[in-house]
Amino acid sequence: MKYAHTIDQARDYAGLAISMMEEHDILPQPNNFSIWYTYFSGESPELKMTMDMLLDANQAFTDEQNASVYRKFLSSPCEAVPSHLIAQKMEVELAAVLAALEQAGRNASDYEQTLESATGDLSKIKRSEELTQIIGTVLDQTRAMVEKSSEVDRQLKISAAEITQLKDELQTARREAMTDALTGLANRKMFDFKLREATQDSMESGDPLALLILDLDHFKQVNDAYGHNIGDQVLKLMGVILKETLKGQDTAARYGGEEFAVVLPKTQIGNAIKLAEHIRQRLAKKEMVNRKTGDNLGSITVSVGVAAFDSKEQPAELIERADRALYAAKNGGRNRVVSEQELKVRKLAI
Ligand code: GH3
Ligand code: MG
Ligand code: MG
Repeated sequence: MKYAHTIDQARDYAGLAISMMEEHDILPQPNNFSIWYTYFSGESPELKMTMDMLLDANQAFTDEQNASVYRKFLSSPCEAVPSHLIAQKMEVELAAVLAALEQAGRNASDYEQTLESATGDLSKIKRSEELTQIIGTVLDQTRAMVEKSSEVDRQLKISAAEITQLKDELQTARREAMTDALTGLANRKMFDFKLREATQDSMESGDPLALLILDLDHFKQVNDAYGHNIGDQVLKLMGVILKETLKGQDTAARYGGEEFAVVLPKTQIGNAIKLAEHIRQRLAKKEMVNRKTGDNLGSITVSVGVAAFDSKEQPAELIERADRALYAAKNGGRNRVVSEQELKVRKLAI
């Protein structure tokens, strides 16, 4: 969550948050403070709506309740990035900015005193030489002031450039902490976050949600036959296929070694199966060639398990059902898509 408030606004919201926590006997702990600060700042309409509902229902704010609100609206993998070093550098720069601004304030007040004393002296003038002297002093002080101001300006510019660079570093660090380095897809941590978010959204909106789990077939043999490097190239290719196939709201992740997972919000299971089939065929059609040797490596295939979210379950249960479907795809001969629906139908038929 980003906050861009003036000091006065921030003080108001902080004061209101603290009173609210006292009134409702909520532990004055940083996460709880964030909830109420965000509530009063109106920064997250969804959080505000949830808290208003809880207030209307006159419910006690238990530790679990608070933790769940924080998890849902305020925690994100980005915030878990250990960026102490960047934060330390940022502190140094902010101290430099503050020092420069304080210096600017002192310069301005010294200058004001010079002007005030010159104004007082003007009323006492008896000879024209005195006027020349006063004007001379004011001019000297003005020149000094201009010089000091440009020094402050220079310092502020240096700090601004440094802060911009630190912001970029922080963004890069956050992105890297959520990304799988080999494929560029989301990593497991990001996947867990996205799936949790998607299940909560689906529970609230009633929109469907589907999950694919994909596992490359006989991948150990690929490594054994052609080497780990070629294996890595195949994993990268799978990443490219997933990125090219999916839309903005979908999340494709490297779930484990040669396992991938795709979260598909607002997607009916039928469409999820079609998408899985499309991905499977794209990989199977691809003829792999070793660029160095020119050797044809044939094609590599993937098995896919598909499951749809049932609003009463935990994300782990959805993963378990998709995994069971994947297991059936492997047992059924690999290079195929199996959905949990098919599993149910098969069981009925037996
Ligand atoms: P199945 O069809 O049953 O999935 O067989 P499999 O060989 O794909 O499955 P298994 O679990 O036996 O082997 C997975 C292999 O994936 C073993 C491991 O060496 C390989 N692997 C895991 N992570 C990586 C990686 O980052 N790079 C490479 N090149 N190989 C990896
Ligand atoms: Mg596997
Ligand atoms: Mg495998």
